Amino acid sequence: MAEGVLTATSTVAAANPYATAQHQFDQAASILGLDEGLRQVLREVRRELTVNFPVRMDDGSIRIFTGYRVQHNLTRGPAKGGIRYHPQVSLDEVKALAMWMSWKCAVTNLPYGGSKGGVICDPSQLSLQELENLTRRFASEISILIGPESDIPAPDVNTNPQTMAWIMDTISMEKGYSVPATVTGKPLSIGGSQGRPAATGRGVMVVTLEACRRQGIDPTQSTVAIQGFGNVGSVSAELLHAQGFKVVAVSDVFGGIHNPEGLDVPALIEHVRVNGKVEGFGGATEAISNAGLLELPVTILIPAALENQLTMSNAAQVKARVVVEAANGPTTPEADDVFHQRGVTLVPDILANAGGVTVSYFEWVQDLQSFFWEESEINSRLTRIMQRAYEQVDDLAKEHQTTLRMGAYCLAVKRVADATSVRGIYP
Ligand code: NAD
Repeated sequence: MAEGVLTATSTVAAANPYATAQHQFDQAASILGLDEGLRQVLREVRRELTVNFPVRMDDGSIRIFTGYRVQHNLTRGPAKGGIRYHPQVSLDEVKALAMWMSWKCAVTNLPYGGSKGGVICDPSQLSLQELENLTRRFASEISILIGPESDIPAPDVNTNPQTMAWIMDTISMEKGYSVPATVTGKPLSIGGSQGRPAATGRGVMVVTLEACRRQGIDPTQSTVAIQGFGNVGSVSAELLHAQGFKVVAVSDVFGGIHNPEGLDVPALIEHVRVNGKVEGFGGATEAISNAGLLELPVTILIPAALENQLTMSNAAQVKARVVVEAANGPTTPEADDVFHQRGVTLVPDILANAGGVTVSYFEWVQDLQSFFWEESEINSRLTRIMQRAYEQVDDLAKEHQTTLRMGAYCLAVKRVADATSVRGIYP
C-alpha cells in the first residue's frame, strides 16, 4: 500500500476516464463493424451500486464514506475487478476501470466479466483500525453483488492482501463459513496464491520482453523509466532489472530519482521498505519530477501509477521507443494518436497489466478446488497466457493495420460480443 495521498501530476484538465474507455470501445466497434444493438449493450456498464456508509473513527465519532461497485459485463463469467481507495475516486473512474476489466479478461481469455470498486478516502489519514472498519462495512454494503460466482474483488491502488483478508472475513462471517474464493490477492494463509503479489509486474516484464523481441531491441542495451513504485511499479522494476534492463529512473507520489548509469533496484526496494518513498536513495542519483521522468531519453517508459499521465501536453516530448502501460488508463486518446504518428510502440493496459487478473484467476480456481499449485507452475502458465495474448493482439493489429491498443480491443470486444449474441437477449 502506498504511504501517501496519490494525486494526478498532469497539468491539463484530466480527461474523464469513462469517456476515454467509451471512445476506445467505439473505435474498436467501428473496426469490427459491430452490430448497432451490440454496440449499445457493450458501451454501457450493466450495474452501478453507490453506497454511503458509516464508519466509527478512533475518537468515537461517526464518519460517512461513499463507495462504488460497478459491473460492466457478466456474459463470459463472474465479474472480476479490484478495489481502489483514493480521495479522487469517482463513479466515472470506477465505470471506466470496470469496462477495462471486461476487455482485459477477454484479451487473456479468462472466463470472467469486468467490474471494479472504489471508496473515496485518503488512506494515509486513517489509522489501521479505521481502515479495517471502513473495509468491513464497505464489504458488507457491496455483499449484495460480490461472491465467488458473481463478482470477485482484488487489490488495486492503496489496497493490499490485508484489505482482501478483511473482506474475505466479513463475507465469511455473514455466510457462517469460510468463503476464500470471494476475493483474490489474499494472504497465502487463507487461500491466497503463490506468485499473486508479483503477478502484475511479472506480466509487465513478459510483455516488455515480447515488445523488445519484436522490435529487435536488446534488453541489455535498454534503459527503463518507471512512474509509480507501488506493487506494480516496484515488481516490474525488480524483474526487468533481473532480465538485464537498466532501470534509470523511478518515482512515486512524493517525487522521483534518476541515475543514467542505472539504479541498484534490490537496494532501492529495501530503501522504500524502510523509508516509504524512493526519495533519499543513496548513490549517484539526482532528484527528478514525475513530469520530467516521463520525458527522459529512455528506451522503455512504464507508467505504473494512475490515469491521464500521458496527454497532449507531453506526448510529443516522450522519447521512449516503447511505452508499456502497467497502470490502467495512463494515456489519453489524443496522446495515443501522437504516439501512433511518431511510431512509438504502446503496449496497452488491457494487455500489459493483465498478469494480475490472470493469477487472480488461478487463485480463484485453486480456492474452488482446495488444491494449491507450486509457484513455478503459476509463473509458467502466466508467461504462456501473456505471450499468447501478445501474439494474438499483434496479429490483429497487423491485420487491421492499427495500433496494439486497437488490436487488443478487437480481440477482446469480439470475444465478448460473440458471447453476448450467442446467449441472446433475455427474456
Ligand atoms: P499501489 O497503491 O501499490 O502503488 C501506486 C504507486 O503510484 C505508489 O508508488 C504511489 O506513490 C505512486 N503514485 C501515485 N500517484 C502518482 C503520481 N501522480 N505520480 C507518480 N507516482 C504516483 O498501486 P498498484 O497496485 O501498484 O497500482 C498501480 C497501477 O496499476 C494502477 O493504475 C492500478 O489500477 C494498476 N493495476 C494494478 C494491479 C494490481 O494487481 N495491483 C493490476 C492491474 C493494474
